[in-house]
Amino acid sequence: MTISRRDFVLGASALVAGAGFAPAAIARSKPLTDILSWDRLTDHTQAVVNLALGGNSLAIASGDEVLVVDSKFTYLGPALREDAMKLGQSVSLLNTHHHGDHTGGNNAFVGKGSSYAHPNAISRIKTMAELFMGDAQGAVMRAKRDLDGNERAMELAMQVAENAQTQKVDDFVPTSPVDHGDTIRIGELELDIHHFGSGHTDNDIVVQLKSENIIHTGDLVFAGLHPFYLPAGGATAKGWIESLEQVLKLCDDETVVVPGHGAVGGKEVVENMKSYHEQLVDVVQGEINKGTSKEDAQQMSWPFMDGLQFEQIKGRAIGAVYDELKG
Ligand SMILES: [Zn+2]
Repeated sequence: MTISRRDFVLGASALVAGAGFAPAAIARSKPLTDILSWDRLTDHTQAVVNLALGGNSLAIASGDEVLVVDSKFTYLGPALREDAMKLGQSVSLLNTHHHGDHTGGNNAFVGKGSSYAHPNAISRIKTMAELFMGDAQGAVMRAKRDLDGNERAMELAMQVAENAQTQKVDDFVPTSPVDHGDTIRIGELELDIHHFGSGHTDNDIVVQLKSENIIHTGDLVFAGLHPFYLPAGGATAKGWIESLEQVLKLCDDETVVVPGHGAVGGKEVVENMKSYHEQLVDVVQGEINKGTSKEDAQQMSWPFMDGLQFEQIKGRAIGAVYDELKG
């Protein structure tokens, strides 16, 4: 029996994601600080995969340079930066989209190195001062709850909370717009930037490191989870399905796929997400045809949803697709 590189990766991260909260007992190939648990995915990449800690962050390092993809919540930004600094002295940041569980920690990075996002994400992040303020003010409570009162995490969270009153939204806004077809160089590595139009938001970026056959999809993929729908941010089922069709073209049978949330997988996690949306459109259209109200449809469930986590956002997805199909 041969175990491919991808099977090895998937075996390790499936354990972690299945557990939800990453238990300390699972051995890590490369521990950085004792706050965040990193899974080594390829020679130059490692990820923090933990449902409780916001979007999955990926660190891509080469030479003295490191790019952090997504910054989780504000109280985790300093820990992410501390870890990144151990991989390389020149640290840059990329946001896959504007949502606060991927951009909350931006202020630990912006102004201290390059920072990248889609132009629409940059515009939207400029309007999120209040969200970042609340996130910073709640830092100590979050660190206590989500990181079990880890001493260093509490210290960093206290600093975040103390600085909440003086933080400015500009501290969170990436300064370098990137769009489809752009590339970013990190040491000797070249990253390809993809944007396939509106899907999960109107500013989704997929990052691809071709030399190691790995992609970070942002929230175009929720693995083993219901997807988060916020139409005000540009989410549509139609656009989401079209974007995922394009993401699949980046994948072969060995591709390592880092989703926005949930376990790292292969191209099947992209296929599963696409299938979820296609089936959701079908069943919701069926209910509309039968005259079912939106409220009643939101209470329903179908076999393709069995076993998925994030149950609390299922009704939101159904309602958003209901509205979209009704036009
Ligand atoms: Zn999102």
